Amino acid sequence: MCKLLEGKIAVITGGSRGIGAAIVRRFATHGAQIAFTYRSSAAQAEALASELTNTYGVKAKAWQSDASSFTQAESLIKQVLDTFGKIDVLVNNAGITRDNLMLRMSEAQWDEVIQINLKSVFNLTKHVLRPMLKNRGGSIINISSVVGLFGNAGQANYAASKAGIIGFTKSIAKEVGSRNIRCNAVAPGFIETEMTDQLDEATRNAYLSGIPMKRFGKAEEVADTCVFLASDMASYITGQTISVCGALNT
Ligand code: NAP
Repeated sequence: MCKLLEGKIAVITGGSRGIGAAIVRRFATHGAQIAFTYRSSAAQAEALASELTNTYGVKAKAWQSDASSFTQAESLIKQVLDTFGKIDVLVNNAGITRDNLMLRMSEAQWDEVIQINLKSVFNLTKHVLRPMLKNRGGSIINISSVVGLFGNAGQANYAASKAGIIGFTKSIAKEVGSRNIRCNAVAPGFIETEMTDQLDEATRNAYLSGIPMKRFGKAEEVADTCVFLASDMASYITGQTISVCGALNT
């Protein structure tokens, strides 16, 4: 198999479960060395780190690091640089939902989603840019959502955070494009993970009927898009948002 990420060092936030874990595995399959983070599921993260070394033969390490904390992001990037020497790819994947209709949404639900989904992207990007400038290149991939493109009732906090990521992505692409640092967003549609398992049957069926491909997406299909954007195959692609949604938003 042609390995697209051989020699690259990647940092992936929220890599212990779901889409993040799929990105971690696909990056390892393509030869990347991997630093990934988690918030609380330590056992799952350590098991995944061992799997990466034993199954894929790549150097890998898991860090407990809250992506919404500016200081923890700073310390994480320092430790990754000490361990791996450089950073070629950052995937800002960590994210949560705290759904509620606007009339019932609490300030805490709004703040938590914005802090974890949007401020985290600022935190990690801020601290990874200098090492990428020194390295004369890099690829930043931000996991947004189709909900950030067309909104969703009951998810105003989540949609705002994911739309914010798209504006941030375009701005960073314009700021650092001349330094060979690319920044793109991936907007998954309905992907089967623990996050979406929480939806009730009626909501799931409503989503399914609106998907032209008539199936939900797989975490691996989002991960493969990230492999492409991280690789030199995407060397002239920056500032873009790629939807992985079976034409849900089309
Ligand atoms: P998930 O299964 O709930 O996994 C979330 C991951 O993020 C876990 O590894 C979790 O760590 C980590 N995390 C949560 N808060 C964190 C924090 N403050 N700091 C560091 N890590 C944190 O979610 P998912 O469905 O894979 O979603 C991944 C991304 O894709 C999110 O940004 C989500 O918004 C986006 N997305 C998902 C879908 C979908 O259909 N699933 C669709 C569109 C976009 P722990 O394991 O320690 O809790």
